[in-house]
Amino acid sequence: MTNNELIEQLYRDTTLPAAGLLQLLTSLAPEEEEHLYRRAREVREAHYGREVYLRGLVEFSSYCRNDCKYCGIRRSNGNAQRYRLTKDQIIECSDVGYRLGFRTFVLQSGEDLAFTTDDICEIVSEIRRRHPDCAVTLSIGEKTRAEYQAYYDAGAERYLLRQETSNPDHYAFLHPAELSIENRKRCLWDLKEIGYQVGCGIMVGSPRQTPENVIEDLNFMKELEPQMIGIGPFIHHKDTPFRDESDGTLEDTLHLLGILRLMFPNSLLPATTALGTINPRGRELGILAGANVVMPNLSPRGVRAKYLLYDGKICTGNEAAECRRCMERRIESVGYEVVVSRGDYRA
Ligand code: SAH
Repeated sequence: MTNNELIEQLYRDTTLPAAGLLQLLTSLAPEEEEHLYRRAREVREAHYGREVYLRGLVEFSSYCRNDCKYCGIRRSNGNAQRYRLTKDQIIECSDVGYRLGFRTFVLQSGEDLAFTTDDICEIVSEIRRRHPDCAVTLSIGEKTRAEYQAYYDAGAERYLLRQETSNPDHYAFLHPAELSIENRKRCLWDLKEIGYQVGCGIMVGSPRQTPENVIEDLNFMKELEPQMIGIGPFIHHKDTPFRDESDGTLEDTLHLLGILRLMFPNSLLPATTALGTINPRGRELGILAGANVVMPNLSPRGVRAKYLLYDGKICTGNEAAECRRCMERRIESVGYEVVVSRGDYRA
């Protein structure tokens, strides 16, 4: 079958045999890409119109107990600058964000055990109390089911936890021995069962990733049925074991975004900061390839340059208000509209 026929089949059926996915992931020509993105936009607009949802990202701690080989804030990076916002500072970020029109706050950090379950619950419930019309999303890593339940009961409704790769050997290659794909998946299923809107995802072009790995990821996602899928290119960090590895590409990331939109028509797909880092118009192109979420940084300016997962991260010198305006301009420049809304999943 030709690539254009495969795109039409994927558009119609939201699924393809592995051989078809493999072909699409490895051989799209420029005019075929355009066809994929046109279909992806059509599907996205059928479910969400031309609305793009904002998530205010608060990176509240750069301490991490883990040692993921790709990540700049891994515990053995002695050059990483560590910081930890106070509860009050985190809550203040939500006040600033609310005034700027954010109706979702994403609290993300390394796995920092200085924050107890009670601390996280207090932060979540206080933000919900102050801003009842907002959603709180957590992205704080692997926890026990009881902890996930406690956050949920405190008012967190969404959780982002990328599987990173669904293949056990590839997972073991990217991570230290104490982490396992079994536990990562256990976390995702627990979150789903508790009732969270769940986001999974992968880095595109991580070291030793094969197209077959990506197909395994797509199969896992079909099983999990996540509401959100976060993907961005892998970008090396100079103080990690992957310092000499090559970065994921704009093209591969956009192809996968288009494919994800056709496979998961009503999903929430962010055009990520990593995509904006490898190309100055990466996020705009992501929107044009099927993404419908952007996550401007809401962290206080003083700490931004310390939350460096990869080299060259953009927007580390700006204030939240600047990022908000800049994002609006970017989205409008490609014919879409940033809206003041929680931007919930539409079943
Ligand atoms: N500690 C939390 C948050 C991790 S940071 C957790 O474990 O879920 C969020 C995401 O950034 C990670 O899931 C990973 O996919 C991505 N990331 C980390 N290092 C990266 C790198 N070098 N290049 C691109 N993305 C990276």
